[in-house]
Amino acid sequence: MAEGRSIAVRFSHVSRHFGEVKAVDDVSLELYDGEFFSMLGPSGSGKTTCLRLIAGFEQPSAGEITLHGRSVVGVPPYERDVNTVFQDYALFPHMNVGDNVGYGLMIKRVPKRERQERVREMLELVRLPGLADRKPSQLSGGQRQRVALARALINHPSVLLLDEPLGALDLKLRQQMQIELKSIQQRVGITFVYVTHDQEEALTMSDRLAVFNQGKIEQLGTPAEVYERPQTEFVAGFVGVSNIVRGDAARKITGEPVPFSIRPEKIRLCPPDTPTTPDMYSEEGMIRDVVYLGMYTRYLVELMDGGDLTVVEQNLQSTSMDALAAKGRRVKLMWKKEFNRPIGVVRTGSG
Ligand code: ADP
Ligand code: MG
Repeated sequence: MAEGRSIAVRFSHVSRHFGEVKAVDDVSLELYDGEFFSMLGPSGSGKTTCLRLIAGFEQPSAGEITLHGRSVVGVPPYERDVNTVFQDYALFPHMNVGDNVGYGLMIKRVPKRERQERVREMLELVRLPGLADRKPSQLSGGQRQRVALARALINHPSVLLLDEPLGALDLKLRQQMQIELKSIQQRVGITFVYVTHDQEEALTMSDRLAVFNQGKIEQLGTPAEVYERPQTEFVAGFVGVSNIVRGDAARKITGEPVPFSIRPEKIRLCPPDTPTTPDMYSEEGMIRDVVYLGMYTRYLVELMDGGDLTVVEQNLQSTSMDALAAKGRRVKLMWKKEFNRPIGVVRTGSG
């Protein structure tokens, strides 16, 4: 995949420590030109600090950062070909939308006519044509975020940094903006580095993503790789929902004393006397709890040999009555062996 693609951002063993706190801890990664890359992780895992290091608002305590092959150690933010969109928009309240978007061009003394033309193009790109004369206070949250995006893109930076830009929007609008952001990124072809703690957002939008935990990268890959082959227990738990099976239960099911993860939607609920085929793992249990969730139902199954597994089934045929009546029933759980994910101590993306 890396063949022939030029690298926009490179971290080589980058750390940023604040006293005792290792905000970023020996991170190495390469971001390609034109890709949509997400940094996903819980609050405090070092995502914002990584963005600030790229932007030049922070300097590494150790390691090196290059932008398009050029070391940026000591290079101030305004000399980097990078722009940032923040969650709180940071628009100038006294300026109208057009002046907000054109601000970067005004600073560069671009003539008024060209400025107006490019502002118009940008407002079209973010689907706000004709709103140049409004004040930010006259816009909705979603519209303000589009203005912030237009303002950040007007100088054609080679890398755009976005720090939880949709965090303040409600779910429906957020999902709509996710699709739109991705389509804008594809049209302008600029490298987007997108920070979020929302795993669904990262899976939906990214070409590749890095999962952060305590200043380190736990896993780096495409959404499908990270979701389908989580390499650590942290990733299995943070990206989607996973059952983690360990100890005696793991040995009994697979024959090996290795902990594994299995996704709830991969497990089938079958009658207890269903024969197990060679390509499947199986385990008997009793349905202890049923939660009907409209589109699907979540079952908590207590295993005969200790522990429990969560199973999710789509309500293709069953009604809520059917689903709830399953409580207390004996079942056999089966899943394809290929869906079992051994979890070890493998770390990728660093070094
Ligand atoms: P995230 O964006 O993933 O929530 P941050 O990069 O903001 O995480 O922070 C990572 C860790 O570094 C946190 O423990 C945070 O408190 C700490 N940190 C970030 N910036 C500073 C700072 N300027 N001074 C001291 N600690 C900081
Ligand atoms: Mg942050």
